[in-house]
Amino acid sequence: MQMKSLSATGIRDFLQCVLKVVFRYDREIVSMKNDHMKIGIAVHEALEQFTRRMLAKKSFPDASDYEFAIASFMNSATKVGLETLSFYSDGKKMVTEYIDKFDPSEEIIDVEYRFKLETPEGIPIVGAIDKVVKINEDTIAIIDYKTARTAMTNWQLRDDIQLSMYDLAASLIWPEYKNRILYLDYVRIDKQVSTYRTDEDRETFREFLVSMWIQFNKIEEEEVKGKINNLCGWCDYKIYCPTYETFINSDSISLTPLTEMKDSEFLNHWTSVNDKKSALESRQRELKMIASERSMQGADIADETRELYTTQAARTNYEIEEVVDLMPKEDLFAVLAVNKARLDRYVRDHPDLKAPLARIAKVNYNAPVFKIKKVDPVEEVDVGNPTTVKDESAA
Ligand code: SF4
Repeated sequence: MQMKSLSATGIRDFLQCVLKVVFRYDREIVSMKNDHMKIGIAVHEALEQFTRRMLAKKSFPDASDYEFAIASFMNSATKVGLETLSFYSDGKKMVTEYIDKFDPSEEIIDVEYRFKLETPEGIPIVGAIDKVVKINEDTIAIIDYKTARTAMTNWQLRDDIQLSMYDLAASLIWPEYKNRILYLDYVRIDKQVSTYRTDEDRETFREFLVSMWIQFNKIEEEEVKGKINNLCGWCDYKIYCPTYETFINSDSISLTPLTEMKDSEFLNHWTSVNDKKSALESRQRELKMIASERSMQGADIADETRELYTTQAARTNYEIEEVVDLMPKEDLFAVLAVNKARLDRYVRDHPDLKAPLARIAKVNYNAPVFKIKKVDPVEEVDVGNPTTVKDESAA
């Protein structure tokens, strides 16, 4: 397969499933975007347009800037076909809160900077950086907007391919800045996380790109098979994928005797069962979506002997103030419970309570959660050297 360049998305695809690379780059197949991707596209568009406008204005935003950015979001969201109505409110909130924080004194070097360049080893790389800001004479911030609900952990930030790609690209585009801070700006949850790459990290990443480039160019399109994995359910190309189709249509799940498995077989089976579980859960979500759509249209899903029907569980709530008014105070302890999340929020504003609460806190442990982690092989000669570990996947 003849590749024109490497992108972080392409590399992530390759590591996940080579068939996804073939779909993305080698066939005229349009990727299917879900509403989570669409809201991300629309928010990015609005923030880019807003920032460009403010770069020209060089002032604090006024009402017209909010209107402009929200209109930009709405237009982009409708253009990409965002269907979930509540996502429109979510998007408007993200854009508004972003504008609330806008600082006109920020020295923005560029927005939505699309790069296409060659590494010193001659590997063509492409990508787009959401925003580049000058921090001081030596340092720039490379900022990428995210609309996810949870932020990456420090471990994930250290290993993130997209951030390594940005770091390398920025080192080539803006060599006058010795330091690059890599930020992910989670606009939905108003959280910024950051990391950086050392010279050694960058060197290793460049070597990694050389190997990836060789692997990419060895791909024989006709021979590539899909690899069922825990992200198949979210794969843009799953409706075209024969491997996914076979997997979804297969009723047989081989249940080999677990107690007789060798450890490596057990670990393989563990990973495979988890991947299949994720793909099936995603399929179940799709089924529910269609069933709910049909139900809203008043259409039954039935055959000669069966019918899909819905039940709706009801949950009853009471306002605490009203309960407190009704019940004798001495009986309240028997029915009221402390909401830990709310108490934590309260303690944030009343830090003097932190220590006394810590003294009376009761910790209970849930059932253990098993995860697989990578373990570097232990060198036999160096008995005293501790084994190093790194998180790989949760099960
Ligand atoms: S659905 Fe899964 S197996 Fe098929 S291309 Fe996508 S990632 Fe690969």
